[in-house]
This record gives sequence, structure tokens and C-alpha cells, in this order.
Amino acid sequence: MKLVPFVKHINLILMSHDNENSPFKVLSPCGICQERLRYWGPKVRVGVTTKEKLLKFVPLGELQPFHWTNAYPAEEIERFNSKVEKLR
Ligand SMILES: [Zn+2]
Repeated sequence: MKLVPFVKHINLILMSHDNENSPFKVLSPCGICQERLRYWGPKVRVGVTTKEKLLKFVPLGELQPFHWTNAYPAEEIERFNSKVEKLR
């Protein structure tokens, strides 16, 4: 039996606080985490803090407007993604 993951929506939020008494802060995922999340596609939404200190969810594609995959044709990226899918 092969299990095929069904992922419709992924939302990620990273929270941190400076000490046990300080309020939580929402941090954008670091570059390594962004790259790992990218395997699920540019539509994965991540929590960020706006300049007004508000929580906002944005798609990874918006966080990474110059992602390296832009240098490749869409069909090549699709072929790569299908190979990755077979490894899961
Ligand atoms: Zn990270």
C-alpha cells in the first residue's frame, strides 16, 4: 500500500519570546525553513509580523519573489516535484 499525502493547505506560524515574562513574537521562517517549506509549493502560507506589529499570513511565493526556481521553466520544476513526490 502506498500512502499519498493529501495536502490542501499548509499554514505555518513560528512564535518566540525573549524570556518567560515577555510577550510572544511571530517570526518569519528562516531561509532554511523557507526552502524546506517550498517543496510543498509557493502557496504555503506563513505567519509574519507587519511593520504595524500585526500578524499576517502570506504565501511563500510572496516572501520569496526571487526564488531560484524562477530561473527554470515551469514544466522542469513540475518534473522535479513529481520525482520528489515518488520519493515520499
Ligand atoms: Zn528555520
